[in-house]
Amino acid sequence: MLKHKYIYIIVFSSLAGWAMFAYFTTTQIIKSQQKFANIINITGKQRMLSQKIPLIATRFYDSRNKEVKEHLVSLYEEMKLNHAHIIAMHTHSAATTAIYYEDPKQLNARVEHYLELVAKFIEDEELSSLYQIDSFSFTLLPILNDAVNVFEYESGLKTKHLLARELFILIGILLTLVLESVFIVLPAIKQADLHEEELNNLVKDRTLELEKLSVTDKLTNLYNRRKIDETLAFEIERAQRNNSSFSLILMDIDKFKDVNDTYGHKTGDYVLQEIARLLVLNVRKIDMLGRWGGEEFLIIDSESHAEKVIEFAEKIRKVIEGNVFENIGQITCSFGVAHYIEGDTESSILIRTDKALYKAKESGRNCVKELLA
Ligand code: GH3
Ligand code: MG
Ligand code: MG
Repeated sequence: MLKHKYIYIIVFSSLAGWAMFAYFTTTQIIKSQQKFANIINITGKQRMLSQKIPLIATRFYDSRNKEVKEHLVSLYEEMKLNHAHIIAMHTHSAATTAIYYEDPKQLNARVEHYLELVAKFIEDEELSSLYQIDSFSFTLLPILNDAVNVFEYESGLKTKHLLARELFILIGILLTLVLESVFIVLPAIKQADLHEEELNNLVKDRTLELEKLSVTDKLTNLYNRRKIDETLAFEIERAQRNNSSFSLILMDIDKFKDVNDTYGHKTGDYVLQEIARLLVLNVRKIDMLGRWGGEEFLIIDSESHAEKVIEFAEKIRKVIEGNVFENIGQITCSFGVAHYIEGDTESSILIRTDKALYKAKESGRNCVKELLA
């Protein structure tokens, strides 16, 4: 459980990390795009201004109109300001440095020189100055074009790089989710299933235990009267259906009260347990054995031959008679036997068995008696 907690922390902090990384990358993409869009836009404008200035200068030279001159001055100011912006903003990559500061393009020096020429014309309004502006503007145009192209190319490159980073983030998040499924979700589901299975097994075990307890006699561990009643009802139904037979052997300890009186109740209990043990050892699995009441035991014998049932009861009688009970010595039992006859009910066959047992007691105990009808 503790291990799971750690994995949870790792996975969720990892997810949070990826989310933060994604946020900063997206912000960076937006900022970078804005910066590039701005610089491309301004450089494009410079290209336009470099060509417009000679036109307006010529128009002024011809017209000497004050407003046209003011327009020229504003164009000059705009170009100067734009240039300062570009120099401050551009990335100073190898490509842009080559364009702006190195031979043969020297765009920075060229623009500055151009601006000086424009300033000179604004100042002196001479034709020679106008010529200089005009001729110099042609050399500026292709280099400003190059600058726009380089900025566009670099913008694309940067975007590509950031998009690759976004893909990396996506893979990272997916991988984290897969790890979460493998190491957290699946084990948690398995554990829940296991827990449910364990609970089901426990309920099954407890139910079986309770069922067993409800049909077991506590002292002897044999079936109790409830179970005997159930089995007897079942046997009668089966005998009716199959036209078959079975027998009951009711067994009662002789003079048991004397055992209790002489040796105490505990010894009496021991005798009951010892007799139960002897019965278990000698009764077949297909027969049913239970404690009928105080010191009485009942066997439901599925044997259909009456003589064999008597033989079997005799055998048990002898086993008990031959057993030496600790501190007591010999204990005997009396046996009443009755066989199922057509039309018997639970009580009718039990009454016959009881009468047979009474007969055995009457006959001096430690014997087997049957009642045929
Ligand atoms: P009989 O030969 O006629 O059957 O004589 P008996 O003394 O065995 O018969 P009785 O019915 O007079 O006495 C039965 C005694 O069994 C009385 C009762 O205290 C005792 N008994 C019944 N259940 C238990 C038990 O669970 N433990 C012990 N120790 N004694 C029990
Ligand atoms: Mg009795
Ligand atoms: Mg008795």
